[in-house]
Amino acid sequence: MPPIYTSTTYRQAAFGESGDYVYSRSANPTRSALERCVADLESGVRGLAFSSGMAATATVLELLDTGAHVIAPADIYGGTLRLFKQVRTRTSALEFSFVNFCDIAEVEKAIQPSTRLLWIETPTNPLLRIMDLEATVALARQHDLLVCVDNTFATPCLQRPLEFGCDIVMHSTTKFIGGHSDVLGGLLIVADDELGKQILSMRSVAGGVAGPFDAYLTLRGIKTLALRMERQESNTMAIARWLEEHDKVERVYYPGLPSHPQHDLASRQMDGFGAVVSFVLRGNLAAVGAFMNALEVFTLAESLGGVESLAGHPATMSHSNLPPAERVALNIPDNLIRLSAGIEDADDLLTDLDCALSAVG
Ligand SMILES: *Cc1c(COP(=O)(O)O)cnc(C)c1O
Repeated sequence: MPPIYTSTTYRQAAFGESGDYVYSRSANPTRSALERCVADLESGVRGLAFSSGMAATATVLELLDTGAHVIAPADIYGGTLRLFKQVRTRTSALEFSFVNFCDIAEVEKAIQPSTRLLWIETPTNPLLRIMDLEATVALARQHDLLVCVDNTFATPCLQRPLEFGCDIVMHSTTKFIGGHSDVLGGLLIVADDELGKQILSMRSVAGGVAGPFDAYLTLRGIKTLALRMERQESNTMAIARWLEEHDKVERVYYPGLPSHPQHDLASRQMDGFGAVVSFVLRGNLAAVGAFMNALEVFTLAESLGGVESLAGHPATMSHSNLPPAERVALNIPDNLIRLSAGIEDADDLLTDLDCALSAVG
């Protein structure tokens, strides 16, 4: 096991002879161990660990000059959307266009002379939409754009965007990679060493690095990532199929179901479908409340990806910052529920859902 190096500074062998480690904001041996591991997992040359997923995302934007234009889908993670729209438009004069990446012609139409970055997330939260990595990279190559993929929902077990030619992979390790809901963190992984050095230099100056304890816990989580993903995915598949048959459920969103509009694309570019499933309950907000309060194995909470199953309500939790009209436009109604399946016994989870659905009037 790598030791947890709490050192902030490192003795220099002689005057003018500093080693690999000088000061822990730039590099720390425990953090380096995590970074080497994730670079390998994502088929990259360099990994960079951050204090949170949002710190990682913010550092990607530091690569862009004032006035640069970014294209992203409208239904990305709520925090990312807030950083783009409410902060960086104001502080860095960045410009953003939000388009439907499921239609690559629409993305191409949005490209301007100042466009530098295509930011995508696949599968998305909470509707599990899939974006075509190959088509996105082909377009980016023609126009000399960077592609950054938020790979949080897939993890490197199920999807490795750098192998498709994407430039940067971003993760919130708070979710599946850490896997135990006990450590916040973020990652960037790149395939190009020069780009890696640029990000390292931005991170060193902005300072949102992963601390040594956090890096240790995240590495420890990774040891069981493949096992957890296997179990969590098989639980999710069972839940998705079961929900699809239930008469109190209007619609189920899970890329592993043949009914998902992009099931074929997901099958092509992923090695599995992940462990998040969303569904529309027949009923109003009161019905959602009755369902949530009746759950006993699932915990009502924000976040996802841990070994314990969680139930979330996008309209009042992850997407509560959006005005109601915008939520409707994004297809996030009040009766949409998001489940993150843990590693519990599948029958216990189904029984819990069955009882909770019975509690809905
Ligand atoms: C949670 C999450 C983030 C933000 O990560 P934090 O670790 O909470 O800062 C970004 N993208 C996705 C898809 C997420 O689920």
